[in-house]
Amino acid sequence: MEITLFNTLTHKEETLTTLEPGHLKMYVCGPTVYDRPHIGNARSAVIYDLLFRFARAVFPKVTYVRNITDVDDKINKAAKEQKISIQDLTKSITDFFHADVGALNVLCPTHEPRATEHIAEIITMIEQLIANKNAYVNQGHVLFDVSSYSEYGKLANRQLDEMIAGSRVEVAAYKNDPLDFVLWKPADDEDDISSVFESPWGKGRPGWHIECSAMSSKYLGADFDIHGGGADLQFPHHENEIAQSRCATPGSHYARFWVHNGFLTVNGEKMSKSLKNFITVRDLLDQGILGIVIRYLLLSSHYRKPLDFTQKALDDAKNSIEKFHQSISDVTPSLSKGVPLTILAHLADDLNMSKVIAELHQMAKKGEKEELAATLDFLGLYDAKFLSREVKNLSVDESFINEQIALRLVAKQEKNFAEADKIRKSLLEKGISLEDVSGGKTIWKSA
Ligand SMILES: [Zn+2]
Repeated sequence: MEITLFNTLTHKEETLTTLEPGHLKMYVCGPTVYDRPHIGNARSAVIYDLLFRFARAVFPKVTYVRNITDVDDKINKAAKEQKISIQDLTKSITDFFHADVGALNVLCPTHEPRATEHIAEIITMIEQLIANKNAYVNQGHVLFDVSSYSEYGKLANRQLDEMIAGSRVEVAAYKNDPLDFVLWKPADDEDDISSVFESPWGKGRPGWHIECSAMSSKYLGADFDIHGGGADLQFPHHENEIAQSRCATPGSHYARFWVHNGFLTVNGEKMSKSLKNFITVRDLLDQGILGIVIRYLLLSSHYRKPLDFTQKALDDAKNSIEKFHQSISDVTPSLSKGVPLTILAHLADDLNMSKVIAELHQMAKKGEKEELAATLDFLGLYDAKFLSREVKNLSVDESFINEQIALRLVAKQEKNFAEADKIRKSLLEKGISLEDVSGGKTIWKSA
């Protein structure tokens, strides 16, 4: 099967072949663990999960690496603000990330390296860059010398002067040139000990870009097939990864395909905390929206196009998922029934999900139950519990109700009756009534 994929590096669709016959190697920039994943993060996780699932169906072997950035200025800042240790913060946010994207049926990657566990590899790569005269040390910092790499700007398709003018590059005294970027930065006296590492250049921590270069090369080698991430990472993050990796291993190309997914907006606006339209995956799950509905919505627009998140889009996603599950109510996806070739062919066409979705509707219409069940399962859009829950007509998840009952009990024990009453009323608004019964227990029923 010929697979075409849009390559940002060459600005066109190209045929995907693997460097090693039958073995696809893919790296995707994972989360920086300082905050719970929002739906924009989830879109990226779901899109590369789709690519991973598709690749597993067509290549004999797939190695998929998605890292965890657990050392970064944003993490230090968030830990300081919340007055907790960096380790506690990164551990809890990593757990939240796994739980939240897991609820969207995102599969575990083959490897999930953490930056803090790869400091030795990062230091070795920086030493190589210094030895190759692509990096220099100044005032405790190690910087990449952009002028030493003539193809800088190729991915972003920009000229050097444009990049200086268009990006908020830091003009710091320790830089020879404003575009030079940090590979290693010295620690501050007040830094949390768990974000400080020994290095040949003194105590400090790595820059974000070098983390991905070092981890991808460890698990996939200097050359591999696909590198993915959000469009916002194209410049400077991915441009810098290419520069570092190719200079550390002269003669290498780094990733041959660069795949970038589009932005997500909420009601037509960029999502931001200041606009109060910041939606996390957990917010949606807590409203009782099922993971497969969120996943369907996130896959409903072409991965390279922007996706607008609206209530209507969410309602449409729920209706489609409900219709599909009703059509297959008397069958369960079986492993023997493979994914129809037409579906794989649509995905082989630069992950054309609109054709896949049209096909799902056709299968439902024609009553092709087994094909539909197998396809939904393959796409991560099948949930055996979906119909039984819909029959009970609950607008919220049972686990959410139980959690609210437990919180109400705590409030009552603390004699915070206003809070207890608030929880009861908010559940009632969702169609769930509570009844306190003997033995201090509370039961619920659909009102
Ligand atoms: Zn990265």
